Amino acid sequence: MRIDVEATGICGADIGTVRNPAPATGFPVTPGHEVAGVIAELGPQVQGWEVGERVAVGWFGGSCGHCPACRTGDVVHCPQRKIPGMSCPGGWSSTMTVPAAALARIPEGLSAAQAAPFGCAGVTTFNALRHSGAGPGDLVAVLGIGGLGHLAVQFAAAMGFETVAIGRGEQKRKLADGLGARHYLDTERESPGAALAGLGGARLILSTASSSKPLADGCPAT
Ligand SMILES: [Zn+2]
Ligand SMILES: [Zn+2]
Repeated sequence: MRIDVEATGICGADIGTVRNPAPATGFPVTPGHEVAGVIAELGPQVQGWEVGERVAVGWFGGSCGHCPACRTGDVVHCPQRKIPGMSCPGGWSSTMTVPAAALARIPEGLSAAQAAPFGCAGVTTFNALRHSGAGPGDLVAVLGIGGLGHLAVQFAAAMGFETVAIGRGEQKRKLADGLGARHYLDTERESPGAALAGLGGARLILSTASSSKPLADGCPAT
């Protein structure tokens, strides 16, 4: 499928793509794996899609479809999986070509700029919440209110979790409130481990922060 690109997110992993050449060719490829656009051209074998449909492409750029991982639905661990921006040119471009299996439809009411980051940051946090075993009413904490965290807080609130946003500094409190967090913990002012314990303990802590220091907080001293 060839897609006319309308918006592409910038993910932390893209920095690695820019700095490190693709192993197969030795040359950098076009980065970009949070892509939203419109189908411009169908391949000859493609069924179920039409030119003009609004679609997104994320980190998953297609898989072999017949290996043990693919047969059990674990497509991201297919040895032959493709990653846009690494195994093929990605979305930092006006056009890109991917297998039809890589596409997700964009629902009405979601702009291209809103939909694009769902391809990586969105699906990463959504799947973590959805497969966590937490249910509505459970206390769920999101550590880090940045690119991934600000989406995770919105998903968690919409899923009915009692959502705790954990950020650094008071300036993130208003943002977290607006995103639907019930509580906000400022790691510069309080110990997040003790504060979560005071709220009855968390069913899940989803860490989106690169620093692991707050995760160690509250663990018994060794
Ligand atoms: Zn990414
Ligand atoms: Zn496979």
